[in-house]
Amino acid sequence: MAASRIVFLMYHELELAGRKLCQSEPGYMRYILPVETFRSQMAWLKASGWRGLNVSEALRYPAGPGVCITFDDGCETDLIAAAPVLREFGCNATFYLTAGFLGTPGYLNSNQVRELDEQGFQIGCHSMTHPYLSDLTKPELEREVVGAKLQIEAIVGHSIEHFSCPGGRYDQRTLQMARRAGFASVANSQSYANSSGTNPYELGRVAMLRNPTLAEFSATCHGRGLWKKRLQQQTRLSVQRALGNRTYDHLRAVLLGRRSG
Ligand SMILES: [Zn+2]
Repeated sequence: MAASRIVFLMYHELELAGRKLCQSEPGYMRYILPVETFRSQMAWLKASGWRGLNVSEALRYPAGPGVCITFDDGCETDLIAAAPVLREFGCNATFYLTAGFLGTPGYLNSNQVRELDEQGFQIGCHSMTHPYLSDLTKPELEREVVGAKLQIEAIVGHSIEHFSCPGGRYDQRTLQMARRAGFASVANSQSYANSSGTNPYELGRVAMLRNPTLAEFSATCHGRGLWKKRLQQQTRLSVQRALGNRTYDHLRAVLLGRRSG
């Protein structure tokens, strides 16, 4: 892979033995990796000479093999499960927090956010209440993008520069709002690698799913096979657009529930 092309990985809550997850429906579980799986991926990165970068580092597109590591939602496992593993293997990461979830069961509280920040990890913003941003009125959007930024900045005491879109949904208004709020980048959930030519307000990310093999993980880091995921996503997006987010989510829950028995 050319040095200037970097895959951004998107993680969520990690599963720890004996610990209750924030949510349990099949649509959520798809994105939950056991901490051991995450650890084997980070071990693979280190053994293969790859760097794990946060978003600011990745946006400088450094030479040499590297991936950008991101987490969405601000679950407590960011600090108690992911951070120790990242430190063990010398990786950095960006944790995008949902401001309104902080301090609720299963999510980070303000002290824990400061601890992650002090450990040298990057804190980003993932909205106030986790809605689909493309469904909102302008004042609602402002609260989700600008209000959330201010709230997280008040916790860490410095500026927050990176935003990720809940459920990957956004429109041009969202991007304009983020830019005006002072965000330097916006990440979505579409499976493409980024390069210095990519618009920083439309950074692709690859969702890390529950049970990948290390061979699949390696292929993803190299950016191989992303076009296939992208094609599936585009089909899904056009169905979402045709049905509307609410109907689509209902159908998806029904179908996933059936598949998992
Ligand atoms: Zn999310």
